[in-house]
Amino acid sequence: MIEIKNSYGLHASTLPNKEGLFGEFGGKIGHPELAKALDELETGFHEIINEQDFIAEMKRLRETYVGRPSPIYHAKRLSEHCGGAQIYLKREDLNHTGAHKINHCLGEVLLAKKMGKTKVIAETGAGQHGVALATAAALMGIECEIHMGVVDMKKEHPNVSRMKILGTKLVPVSEGAGTLKEAVDSAFAAYLEDIENSMFAIGSVVGPAPYPEMVGYFQSVIGHEAREQFLNTTGGLPNKVVACVGGGSNAMGMFSGFMDDEGVEKVGVEPAGEGLDTPNHAATMTKGVKGEIQGFKCYVLLDEKGNPAPVHSIASGLDYPGVGPQHSFLKDEKLASYESVTDAECLEAFMALSRMEGIIPALESSHAVAYAMKIAKEMSSDQTILVNLSGRGDKDIDFVLDKVEL
Ligand SMILES: *Cc1c(COP(=O)(O)O)cnc(C)c1O
Repeated sequence: MIEIKNSYGLHASTLPNKEGLFGEFGGKIGHPELAKALDELETGFHEIINEQDFIAEMKRLRETYVGRPSPIYHAKRLSEHCGGAQIYLKREDLNHTGAHKINHCLGEVLLAKKMGKTKVIAETGAGQHGVALATAAALMGIECEIHMGVVDMKKEHPNVSRMKILGTKLVPVSEGAGTLKEAVDSAFAAYLEDIENSMFAIGSVVGPAPYPEMVGYFQSVIGHEAREQFLNTTGGLPNKVVACVGGGSNAMGMFSGFMDDEGVEKVGVEPAGEGLDTPNHAATMTKGVKGEIQGFKCYVLLDEKGNPAPVHSIASGLDYPGVGPQHSFLKDEKLASYESVTDAECLEAFMALSRMEGIIPALESSHAVAYAMKIAKEMSSDQTILVNLSGRGDKDIDFVLDKVEL
């Protein structure tokens, strides 16, 4: 077992080498004009996270602003219903802004400030990353510029309103399909115009180094808290920890706390969408190949031409053809496994948790709940599953009401 830990509490198996590689995955591909900025960010990140005032400020904000530690909760009625293992939830849905994304947005914006930047720039798809970043930027009095496809803006109107109220400069992107891909290109071009004063803030453990490591680090608070809480509550460790995987940040956050515990099985849950045998899914780990996307190497779903494929999930936060390099590495090393659940199973879990526990989960998180419900049945009642409930489902209620007969 690997036991080396670095000074900031990440397990060696979740840390990159000097080239930003996790095994063969990750790295900094292309973008010569970016190389200098990425190096500057990497150096800044490694220095600043060890500074006492940064550590103290993160701790203060986590406790008094986000509301950490988020509790773990024994979902007794849901467990009984499944008739097997005991299901526990790590309640990231109770964080300020309603999901885990605030964890890394606070870190990124505080880091940007310490590095003397006056602005953070990002793209957003469904608007969840945009809202979390806009929140952190408002809190810390730093400019925030979010690029969003016009089609997404129409679909995700409440998040657009939130960002506007929070003072974000919103840049509508009408090129191409008017969705995430075009928004990425547009945000990136804006960043290159003002690299000196701005920081590009990525919303998951994806992109070139140091982003996967950095976002993974800021999210690792989830797993470290959860391990201690679980021990205190039950006197032992869970048999399995389960989290949904889009880019993979909430799952990395959860897994990080348990990398030393070989007996704890780590399971990432991907969207099987309308089925793995249809083109309409986003099960990157299950069906993808080794390839490149947005400046790094990972498992990726490609189209016939070898470009990242259009993918589908009922949960827009999981709708990504690539996946974090850490996950690609953990899969190949068999340090974690990856399963998938369909849109239909996700909706069932969404309703089950709402009706049996009074907790309306995000459709993204519902994937993890669905897998836990399925696997719990095959386990005994003295065994345990800890699910990362990455976010709340208020954003999804109208969509679900359209889909589900009540
Ligand atoms: C964005 C989002 C996800 C997916 O992102 P990861 O980086 O895979 O964690 C999952 N759950 C919620 C609630 C989200 O907002």
